[in-house]
Amino acid sequence: MYELRVRGEFEAAHQLVGYEGKCRRLHGHNWTVEAVVKGRELDRLGMVLDFKVLKAALTSVLDEFDHMYLNDLEPFASMNPTAENLARLIFERLSVSPIFDGISARLTAVKVFETSRSCVIYSPDD
Ligand SMILES: [Zn+2]
Repeated sequence: MYELRVRGEFEAAHQLVGYEGKCRRLHGHNWTVEAVVKGRELDRLGMVLDFKVLKAALTSVLDEFDHMYLNDLEPFASMNPTAENLARLIFERLSVSPIFDGISARLTAVKVFETSRSCVIYSPDD
């Protein structure tokens, strides 16, 4: 099994509604997002999936959040924009990307770093 990981970034503000602590106040992060893809088969070039293609698909998902106030976005109308909810949402969007059409490799996890020391890993199978 091969495991590929690519990272993307976006900048966005949020605040956690109902949270008792500093994060209830408006603040921003430089979010880093890592996509994890697993596959057993290589194409004729010897790749599971071109890093460039995977990175472009991740960037297009992250563009929705870049330089936004996350609480104002439709997906967060009914849930807090936590790293957990972001990781699941990014997973759900990226996993249905056409880049996975016709290949056996699949997105298996999305890791969202709120800071360099704190991250969430969302994996639907675990
Ligand atoms: Zn925060």
